[in-house]
Amino acid sequence: MAGIYIHIPFCRQACHYCDFHFSTNLSRQDEMVDAIAHEIVSRKDYLQDEIVTIYFGGGTPSLLSGPQLEKLLESIHQNFTVSSTAEVTLEANPEDLTKAQSEALYKHGINRLSIGIQTFDEQKLQWMNRIHSSEEAVKAFRNARSAGFENISLDLIYAIPNHDRNAWEKDLKAITSLDPEHISLYGLTIEEKTVFGKWERENQLIQLPEDAAAEQYLFAIDFLTANGYIQYEVSNFGKKGYHSRHNHSYWAGTPYLGVGPGAHSFDGKNTRSFNVRNNVKYLKAINENLEYSEQEELSDIQRINERILTELRTSGGVDLKMIESLSGSRVEDLHTTFLQEIHEKNMIEMTGDFLRLKPHGFLVADEIALRLFFPEE
Ligand code: SF4
Repeated sequence: MAGIYIHIPFCRQACHYCDFHFSTNLSRQDEMVDAIAHEIVSRKDYLQDEIVTIYFGGGTPSLLSGPQLEKLLESIHQNFTVSSTAEVTLEANPEDLTKAQSEALYKHGINRLSIGIQTFDEQKLQWMNRIHSSEEAVKAFRNARSAGFENISLDLIYAIPNHDRNAWEKDLKAITSLDPEHISLYGLTIEEKTVFGKWERENQLIQLPEDAAAEQYLFAIDFLTANGYIQYEVSNFGKKGYHSRHNHSYWAGTPYLGVGPGAHSFDGKNTRSFNVRNNVKYLKAINENLEYSEQEELSDIQRINERILTELRTSGGVDLKMIESLSGSRVEDLHTTFLQEIHEKNMIEMTGDFLRLKPHGFLVADEIALRLFFPEE
């Protein structure tokens, strides 16, 4: 089992909160698609296993034209063994999902869409510099459905400043009324090198207080659960049978190849590689046959700690027996006091050999994981 991630590093305009890798200069899109197709061919020996998930992320992959998408998919199919039941996801922005584009995506073999809705509040969409309106988001969803998509994920952002509990509840009601198969929730974080980062430094943006943000997240868990969605990871909720297989493969440590600027790969053992996070440098390197990625070898301890970090974020929890067999030590013995402390705060539960987070624990999943790490030698 293996996966392929394709990073499409272009967006029509920059959202004020976003620090992903993308460029708003779309003029080199064709050249970029050729370069990524070239990278796919040159790394065809990276994965030996059957490809069960393909994920177009970005940036905005829904900007790809039919022929561009076809070129990338063709080169994947010609160079790898792709399962006939592979999950093929594409991240889409509402403004791109016209009837024609939705039908083209479906025709080319995309079978799962992940649509960035973020909020249904018109003013907040504008404030975040999203291009689309709330009406367009609903229309995009309907176009996708009519085109044949039976597996659609929608993204929402919580903890938006001045977006109170009522406004958040409205967003949740609006999203569930569309009845998507999957919903992802992300708390708004203010990144330094973004417009919001600048506004915060200039005191033009005041973040929602932490307790209000936490309340919105906990409310969403209850709301989505009551509406038939199963929380299977900190940020992800799916109807039964609709959990993202691609995300799951990251958490399960299966090998994946990431192509395109800024993409990461993992060989399934102990090596990660990171492509250069710059369109111009990436294109130059591919065109001139230069090095475009860096490698990192993970130590055994790093791999165990990564496993704790990723498993803890899932509803399945950390397999303590497995960690013991890999490390020779018990997490329970290394961190007895801390585990006792977070147990008393109702953040975790220990069931059988598994350590699982409860909703209050999910709020601080990464902080808890860091405290459970094995020390580096
Ligand atoms: S949030 Fe998405 S559409 Fe907006 S800038 Fe970031 S990658 Fe582009």
